[in-house]
Amino acid sequence: MDNDIKTMKFEAETKKLLDLMIHSLYSSKEIFLRELISNASDAHDRLHFEAITNEALKDAVEEPAIRLSVDKDKRILTISDNGIGMSKEEVQTNIGTIAKSGTKELFEKLKQSKVEELPTELIGEFGVGFYSAFMVANRVTLVTRRAGEQTATQWESKGDGTYSISDGERDAPGTTIALHLKPADADDGLDDFTEEWVLKRIVKQYSDFVRYPIILPVSREKEEDGKKVTEVEEETLNSMKAIWLRPEAEVKEEEHKEFYKHISHDWQEPLKHIAMKAEGRFEYQALLYIPSHAPFDMYYSTFKWGLQLYVKNVKILENAEDLLPPHLRFIKGVVDSPDLPLNVSRELLQHSRQITQIKKSLTKKVLDTLKYLKETDEEKYNGFYKEFGAVLKEGVSSDFENKDRITELLLFESSNDPEKLTSLADYVSRMKEDQEEIYYLTGESRQVIESSPHLEAFKERGLEVLYLTDPVDEFMMGTLTEYKEKKMRSVGKGDVELGTKDEKEQAQKELEDKSKQFSDFLKAVQKELDDHVSEVRLSKRLTESVSCLVGTEADLSPHIERLLSKNKVDVPAHKRIMEINPDHEIVQKLKARFDVRPTDLELADHAQLLYGQALLAEGSPLPDPATFATLVSKLFVRSL
Ligand code: ADP
Repeated sequence: MDNDIKTMKFEAETKKLLDLMIHSLYSSKEIFLRELISNASDAHDRLHFEAITNEALKDAVEEPAIRLSVDKDKRILTISDNGIGMSKEEVQTNIGTIAKSGTKELFEKLKQSKVEELPTELIGEFGVGFYSAFMVANRVTLVTRRAGEQTATQWESKGDGTYSISDGERDAPGTTIALHLKPADADDGLDDFTEEWVLKRIVKQYSDFVRYPIILPVSREKEEDGKKVTEVEEETLNSMKAIWLRPEAEVKEEEHKEFYKHISHDWQEPLKHIAMKAEGRFEYQALLYIPSHAPFDMYYSTFKWGLQLYVKNVKILENAEDLLPPHLRFIKGVVDSPDLPLNVSRELLQHSRQITQIKKSLTKKVLDTLKYLKETDEEKYNGFYKEFGAVLKEGVSSDFENKDRITELLLFESSNDPEKLTSLADYVSRMKEDQEEIYYLTGESRQVIESSPHLEAFKERGLEVLYLTDPVDEFMMGTLTEYKEKKMRSVGKGDVELGTKDEKEQAQKELEDKSKQFSDFLKAVQKELDDHVSEVRLSKRLTESVSCLVGTEADLSPHIERLLSKNKVDVPAHKRIMEINPDHEIVQKLKARFDVRPTDLELADHAQLLYGQALLAEGSPLPDPATFATLVSKLFVRSL
């Protein structure tokens, strides 16, 4: 057989990751075993899946096992499975590269952190379980043969930037990974991984629930005919008990944490677990986990989500997306039902009444759990919301049935307290007696919104305004038009009517009177700005600033328009209304000047200055910054 040994370089990103891994001061180095066992367990699952649809593979399915073995003298620990295995190409793509979307972005994050301070969660986010082997080994050899293929592949690396790949030898499908262990060094988190008791402890701690036996040959001393003899016996180290089938009260929090890490490939602990059991005509058990942090690829179309679906403790699907709605795509977990057919397919799931029913119950349960968390542990809930609030918000527009439940879970920044997020219920409890609407303003950040002229009349009256800073907010508000029969009102759009009925009428009358006096002036200014604004009118919302721009209810906010055009989404051009403050000194002087000299050529410049100021105040760019700068310079000179 032609057996070229090829030496290949790791991709730059993989190499960097390896360096990080090897040099990291990560203290729980023993988790490498959890990661390798997890991969072996997945390999068994995959073989099982493929064998369902591929007759040819049926013969490859042996009694599944994950075997550990130790060569004490050579300090080699071997982990071997008889799962699906890998072809040569698969070894190259799966082990030689990190082929995950978003890797580049993640590396940007990594670049900012020093090797010594490598955040563990970042290692986990790559799903680079395999590389954790290099935390404990200075050489790793992998021999694998894919089920259905006759040839095996050997891969070897010292984690030094290159790896070699060649044909290997393996009698049956599966994967064997040999770790040439570094010397034990307790100070560095390196236990002696050739010790039976160390391996037993680690397996028990991290992998007890793995559904395949993890087997270790264990030596025992026996007395035979009065003589001591050492016998080697195979011992299964894990209980293999499905954690969701055990009584909830019996499962320790530690076990949940490890099970979560096993199914999610997340290295951090979950925020909370949710256990459910439905009995009666259609039975199922569910064990769900709310993660504590958002995966970096949650917004990528390639993001894999969904729950693991089991039928009678046999895994049927890895990512069943039909069990939860997309706005709960961050939830990890398992659903097991004895009442589903074993050969259930994705297509079947989509049309299954039972699955729809499970989805409905799980969704409600997750939302209720979040509500409970919000009511009982504000800090924890805020942590959750920071990570997943934006995803949850998608549900306001897409999940009609649970819209109210989700709305109760929303939190917003507000003018009330810069330190605290507020719920809509809390906002309503603080509303002024004569206040009928819930006010909000969308913008890029709290800082930008806070200095917006649109808020002036509201600040003056002590009216609370919600600050919506998430891009998704703008779209959500398209659906969230009211809360508890109170209309949601953008203070950046439409007309402003504040105060009691009498006050409103009074204000309206005053404005109409003034507008008459200002009529010619307003028309003249508008003529100068015809290319930019649809109307120039007097404002009820400004008390300090001279001008601002307002949209109609249907308009998108300017920062969203900018965001969309940055992402090359066509936004139809439309003009907004410019409001000017009739009580402002500038407006009064301009008007007085106009009354005397209606054909004043400088009005053109002044109109541009009013418009430019309005744009700058809301954080929008100027259409022609150079001309604006010249105008400001002209004014400057005059004032000196
Ligand atoms: P993850 O398991 O999170 O995808 P890893 O770095 O641990 O990341 O593994 C990368 C890939 O290598 C796996 O997704 C799988 O395709 C393959 N792999 C790793 N170990 C095995 C194994 N024991 N048997 C078959 N394939 C494996």
